[in-house]
Amino acid sequence: MSLVESSLLPSDAVYRQVVPAGEPWIHEVRRGQFFRIVDLGGNQAADTLFYNAHDYSDRYSAQDTIQNQGNLYLTTGTRLMSTGGTLLLTIVADTCGRHDTLGGACANESNMVRYAIEKRHMHACRSSFLKAVIEWGRGMDKRDIANNINFFMNVPVTPEGGLTFEDGISEPGKYVEMRAETDVVALISNCPQLNNPCNAYNPTPVEVMIWNPRD
Ligand SMILES: [Zn+2]
Repeated sequence: MSLVESSLLPSDAVYRQVVPAGEPWIHEVRRGQFFRIVDLGGNQAADTLFYNAHDYSDRYSAQDTIQNQGNLYLTTGTRLMSTGGTLLLTIVADTCGRHDTLGGACANESNMVRYAIEKRHMHACRSSFLKAVIEWGRGMDKRDIANNINFFMNVPVTPEGGLTFEDGISEPGKYVEMRAETDVVALISNCPQLNNPCNAYNPTPVEVMIWNPRD
């Protein structure tokens, strides 16, 4: 793990927004801008999708990102690639050290299959994503909700290739920061999951911040 701090000050940010536990957030980040997500309470999964702002069908690809860096975990230096081969963002600072892109987003269906039939109507990330893009009203719909990143979520891969949702390694105030390499749309579902340790069974807010390009 490579822990790298940012020199950008929250007081210089041009945009700041706290995203409450369980809520979605969608916003454009322009080329050259810096985009930070802060885990305010610790051990909170921020399920995140990115799109090329000029073509929403050109979206974040876990497979291309993993292939590009030859590693399963995301951290400082990771180049977030799209399905069309576009470099969307680069992770430039990370005080948590590891982020998941294999575990996917929670959904009503997967909650029911993984946990219990009664979990079906619990609030889930896929519904949050869908609600956000529909309210945003720019033509995105269910087919645009593809593979995502789980910032601050710990999903270690065993030597046999197994996936396990483990207790988080993040703490209050840890953050991940990216530089947009093209104009992107960022969509976050601040995960409401209560059935596995990804949110320490207690979802908490995250804060998003944006800075303008450096001279
Ligand atoms: Zn979730």
